[in-house]
Amino acid sequence: MSSLPLLIDFHKDGQRLGPGGSAASRHALQLGKVPTDQPLRIADIGCGTGALSLQLAQETRAHITAVDFIPDFLETLRRRAKRQGVENRIHTLSASMDELPFNSEQFDVIWSEGAVYNMGFERGISYWRQFLKPGGKLVVSELSWLTPARPKEIQTYWEAEYPEVDTAPAKLTVLERNGYAPLGYFPLPESCWENYFAPMRERFPDFLQEHDHSAEALALVQAEQQEMDLYARFRSFFGYGVYIAQRFDSTNE
Ligand code: SAM
Repeated sequence: MSSLPLLIDFHKDGQRLGPGGSAASRHALQLGKVPTDQPLRIADIGCGTGALSLQLAQETRAHITAVDFIPDFLETLRRRAKRQGVENRIHTLSASMDELPFNSEQFDVIWSEGAVYNMGFERGISYWRQFLKPGGKLVVSELSWLTPARPKEIQTYWEAEYPEVDTAPAKLTVLERNGYAPLGYFPLPESCWENYFAPMRERFPDFLQEHDHSAEALALVQAEQQEMDLYARFRSFFGYGVYIAQRFDSTNE
């Protein structure tokens, strides 16, 4: 197990800290019919180094609250926002995603890529709902099975690592029973995983050198490599699903 400071050091300059891509996020914006020409309020929860906050600031007129509990990641995000001239529309907040200091119905959109698993999908989407305006949109990516059945090895692995792993129809049911109307779903294409893995692979040699090939640094690299190998072997059976939904209240028009 790697220490948190080492993990932060390894990831803090990453462009993105999980699978994703700008075309996929744009597709989610379109499926959610999120207006790009209005000064909406968007929360990016588990924002990491800010891939999504920066894209949303560039491609919409929204004001973004970027939340993460690792201040070093937020610092990277602030630096990048300044460089891109969007720092006035991105406010960073160091807080835990399960204890947010927000007002009820504060946001038009809640966005969270590759992060809700930290509190569990159902717990996360049900807790965050109160912060969305009625009719507000939720965009969330989540580890998902891509087929109704899969090899035992990968099934056992993910059920131990993340017991909430499930198929898209099951995730859509969870959204419905927690007061959301599903608007869309798509699995992230494989290129989105390479967007995450390729730069990470490139960082391995420098990272190991900076840490004198310590046992801890080697263990971190091996763990990341194992994740990549697992994806390479079983990518037709699991991936990230992107779920787009709307807060549903019985008074919605
Ligand atoms: N959304 C970003 C992206 O796609 O690049 C980051 C994804 S990364 C896989 C997950 C992020 O969730 C990390 O930045 C991590 O620090 C953050 N995180 C984990 N647990 C958290 C918690 N309890 N509260 C807030 N952020 C958390």
